Amino acid sequence: MKAVRFYAPQDIRFEEVDIPKIGREEILVKVETALTCGTDVKMYRRGHPMIKPPHIFGHEFAGLVAEVGENVNQFSEGQRVVAANSAPCNSCYFCKVGKPNLCEHLQETLIGFSVDGAYAEYVRVPASIVEQNTYDVPDQVPFEEAALLEPLACVANGNDVADIKLGDTVVVIGAGPIGLMHVQLAKIKGATKVICTDLAQQRLEVATELGATAVIDASKEDQLKSVRGLTDGMGADVVIEAVGLPQTWELAVEMTRKAGTTVLFGGCPSGTKITLDTRSIHYGDLTIKGIFHHTPLSVKRAYEMITSGTFRGRPLITGKMPLSELERALKLMTEGKCIKMAIVPDAR
Ligand SMILES: [Zn+2]
Ligand SMILES: [Zn+2]
Repeated sequence: MKAVRFYAPQDIRFEEVDIPKIGREEILVKVETALTCGTDVKMYRRGHPMIKPPHIFGHEFAGLVAEVGENVNQFSEGQRVVAANSAPCNSCYFCKVGKPNLCEHLQETLIGFSVDGAYAEYVRVPASIVEQNTYDVPDQVPFEEAALLEPLACVANGNDVADIKLGDTVVVIGAGPIGLMHVQLAKIKGATKVICTDLAQQRLEVATELGATAVIDASKEDQLKSVRGLTDGMGADVVIEAVGLPQTWELAVEMTRKAGTTVLFGGCPSGTKITLDTRSIHYGDLTIKGIFHHTPLSVKRAYEMITSGTFRGRPLITGKMPLSELERALKLMTEGKCIKMAIVPDAR
């Protein structure tokens, strides 16, 4: 089959590889769409500690069941399916205390990282994922929208800890795919004002299309001042950081009103630190939360939102490109010229 393999930072190759072999509890999926993601861009540019090259990356996908392990009963050949990139073990410490998103064994079967990924014609889905985080895709849901399952599950998990209330004012810093998902979920949760900030005008337009009530172009305005201006000087009830930079983490805390909640969602480069004002945290009764990855529950919620049409995925997908042009798609992502690209195997 054809696949794109990562060899080294900025060295990825479109080449012929063997079709993965599956185990008895696994399925093989013929990829119909794989979506580009910010993590893939980071991996392409800098590599990833979990990856042993050459490695097929790509972790957001949907397709058709091509082969079914003999012990798998819930799926059959030809079925349209989508799967998340991981599933918890359900027996480690974190799984037992109700934090399956922090499962100690997550990395052992992580599609696109420790296991070959979806930038290929076929992808093997490990047993724990088949069992817990694979769903059938109704005919009316396009593959590229179904493939949003994994990132949306992460965002649903983050939305849970944000604890947005009816009538709240929410700020989302960053209008990349993750920020744009947060904008939509904040609206669904009943926030009446949703303010989105970004450096790219094009992305802010999509934020407006998806329900943001105000947008701030951070390349032209002081976003902290603008947020205060839009909130009677108080700051927002909930601020969600969806960029992953120490400076925007700090800004997120500063934008939060007294007794409000800051959700630090974006992953910063490792080794970075932030500085916070102890006084405003103490006297301001601030709640500051970190959140990582998804749980089987948030995957299920994401699935329900996608298949019911509650969540609009279409505006997040800028276009379609063949697998052989993945590198060009990742470069477009880097340049901020695309939100997500749907990657389809060549000649289909
Ligand atoms: Zn992703
Ligand atoms: Zn576990």
